[in-house]
Amino acid sequence: MPRSRADLEKNEERHLAPYAQSSALSRGREHDEDQHKFRTVFQRDRDRIVHSRSFRRLEYKTQVFLNGSGDHYRTRMTHTIEVSCIARAFSRALGLNEDLAEAIALAHDLGHPPFGHLGEDTLHKLMAKQGGFRHNVQSLRVVEELELKYPEFNGLNLTWEVCEGLRKPYIPNRLIEGFIQPSLEAQAVDLADQVAYICHDLDDGLESSLIHEDELENLELWRTMKQKALTPYPHLEQERGRHYVLRTLLDHLVDDVITYSDQTIQDRAPESSDDARRQPTMITFSPETAKLARELLNFLYKRLYHNPALSAVRQRSVDYLTQLFELFISHPHLLSPQFETRVKKDGVHRATCDYLACLTDRQVYVQHQKFIGGIPSLDTSHLEQSALL
Ligand code: MG
Repeated sequence: MPRSRADLEKNEERHLAPYAQSSALSRGREHDEDQHKFRTVFQRDRDRIVHSRSFRRLEYKTQVFLNGSGDHYRTRMTHTIEVSCIARAFSRALGLNEDLAEAIALAHDLGHPPFGHLGEDTLHKLMAKQGGFRHNVQSLRVVEELELKYPEFNGLNLTWEVCEGLRKPYIPNRLIEGFIQPSLEAQAVDLADQVAYICHDLDDGLESSLIHEDELENLELWRTMKQKALTPYPHLEQERGRHYVLRTLLDHLVDDVITYSDQTIQDRAPESSDDARRQPTMITFSPETAKLARELLNFLYKRLYHNPALSAVRQRSVDYLTQLFELFISHPHLLSPQFETRVKKDGVHRATCDYLACLTDRQVYVQHQKFIGGIPSLDTSHLEQSALL
């Protein structure tokens, strides 16, 4: 006999902590659907996300280094997979619902535009008079509106709990009195995101030689991890040694979050997932590690994200996005059919912003080449419609 959804729900009841969000107690979906025979609601959500177009596009979107600039660097997709692994590790250790955490993690960056945070800031400025642009709000928009998979509604019709996890920073849910935080599973994803980017941005920064190991000697967290990792192995060759320090750092941060959060949860003793939502954040670094991680992040901001060596390529990305934005605003018929039809409903600015946010890094280059490259004016009315999306 195959295991049914009811069996899986019973398993959750037996194994999850009382403050975990069980799938049987989900608040459900906006559009009612029959339950699946073999999968819980959160397992279904995870699968819907993985099978979506927006998920596949993450492979060609920037994390820090432009997509295509090196095959070893993280992309938005590999970042997402790392976040999912870490969020599941937190959830498993703390008795939370791994399937829910995984679904939120896999969807958390679906709304990221091309060119990472630079793309986000550019669209935010271009949309200043129309409500701005934020990738987390856009992730929700992707799963609620922009994915077109079902005959009767737009979006993926995900559960309330997965959508709740995508609202970041958390906007207290006015419909439900007293909620000040999302589920602990969503909090686990938020911390997993931070742990993942601290470690992998540092890794990619070192790999690219934009950051040098000797600069890190001023950072207490790096020094401590290096000592812990390399004292038993004083003669490791440099690259293997560097990877081992980074691995030790990741392990240390994950361990710190699990140990400290477990203590907080025990002290506060939430009786249910909703009880946890009524209390301040419980999944956190210890105060000491939070301080050291902040120091490391400040360093990354200065030396990696705003490194002058990247400024030419950054400027080109801003220019391309801005020029395409202006082009589509004045020539909306050049948008792909899906987004052109949205102009009536959302206005030309939002439809254009949605379209550009969906593009991958390389699609921006292709679009720019096709419509603007080599053409001095923006009069492109003679050009055919774009069919990229
Ligand atoms: Mg992220």
